[in-house]
Amino acid sequence: MDQTGQAVAEARIDALIRVAREFGQQGWTPATSGNYSVRTAESRLMMTRSGVHKRDLDRGGLMPVDLDGQPIEGGRPSAETGLHTQLYRHFPGVNAVLHVHSPAATVASRMFQAQGSIELSDYEMLKAFAGITTHATAVTVPVLPNEQNIASLAASVEPWLADGRASWVYLIAGHGLYAWGSEVADAARHVEALEFLLACHLLEQRVNAA
Ligand SMILES: [Zn+2]
Repeated sequence: MDQTGQAVAEARIDALIRVAREFGQQGWTPATSGNYSVRTAESRLMMTRSGVHKRDLDRGGLMPVDLDGQPIEGGRPSAETGLHTQLYRHFPGVNAVLHVHSPAATVASRMFQAQGSIELSDYEMLKAFAGITTHATAVTVPVLPNEQNIASLAASVEPWLADGRASWVYLIAGHGLYAWGSEVADAARHVEALEFLLACHLLEQRVNAA
């Protein structure tokens, strides 16, 4: 790797550690849940290790894997590594993938599982998603059934990625959210925006039902 590549990779790792600690403090990765990765070279990632508490993430909690999720220097990566590598293989411009078990995302994913997606429209916060410049739009958030077999879970995500309907985020029912972006800051903004939007959406439903 050239020096520029090395510097970019180091900056991504530092940014990821900062975000992991912040999201951990927010209570979005309780009890060692969640997992994170950054791209450090064209076909190489740094992935969180299995069982590490993300609130205390440091460099020792990350390990290199290839785009098939295979460890490059040994170790056991997060169980959901296959969902990260799927996104990196699909989108060459994506360099960060974040997965959290945040409360609004978890509740909304259960409530909208039967519908298979959630439509969010006319929120100013939609502009936090890369490429969106107006509130006057609608974003469809896929809600996929949970599954312990990661290859089957990836297979249910695949159609959404293949036809471009999933941009930046998806939910897994009763589980949490996945968000990605061109850099860690973009992926983190997508996590924060989606969690906020879903909290609003749930509140609105409660008010309407009252
Ligand atoms: Zn998870």
